[in-house]
Amino acid sequence: MPPDYTLPFPGPDLAEQELRYDYCYAKIPPEDRAGIVNMAWERGTAAARDVFARYDGEGNFFVIAERSGLSCEEVDKDYVMGDLRYFSDYLSGQKRIRLYTRSIALWAEQNNMDEAAARNLILSHEYFHFLECTALGLTSRLYQVPMLIIGPFKIGRTGIRALSEIGAHAFAHAYHQLLL
Ligand SMILES: [Zn+2]
Repeated sequence: MPPDYTLPFPGPDLAEQELRYDYCYAKIPPEDRAGIVNMAWERGTAAARDVFARYDGEGNFFVIAERSGLSCEEVDKDYVMGDLRYFSDYLSGQKRIRLYTRSIALWAEQNNMDEAAARNLILSHEYFHFLECTALGLTSRLYQVPMLIIGPFKIGRTGIRALSEIGAHAFAHAYHQLLL
């Protein structure tokens, strides 16, 4: 998970903002923006409903991860690079998630949140990326823009990374709502 500006629970209204942070944002025609944000948000929400049903309303993502064959490693580290703080990452080739527990503890404190609940929430976000890599396909690839535009020439195609993030936010958000 890249640094988040909108957690603990980014809503659909903040998803558009996430798209704006994408380095490809300027290449997305303005008339397409709302539609692709909705598409990514719906995808995350639908996946949350599926997982909730599949695991009988299980609220602990450490349990869900284990039953899914995904291992979680808790790294005692505050992971800061430049001026950004990272909370976790998903190593797709290895079906492994790393949680940076000191980063998460700081974030939990700032958001007045229980540390265990914060870990669980961040793990749920990463779990969506795991689903993307193992079952759903990458949300970021569902909409593509030219990699390079030079005058009349459009070269290559690239997906929009922010769409995967929006999907993961929606997943975490919807799952939390289902547990209430
Ligand atoms: Zn993420």
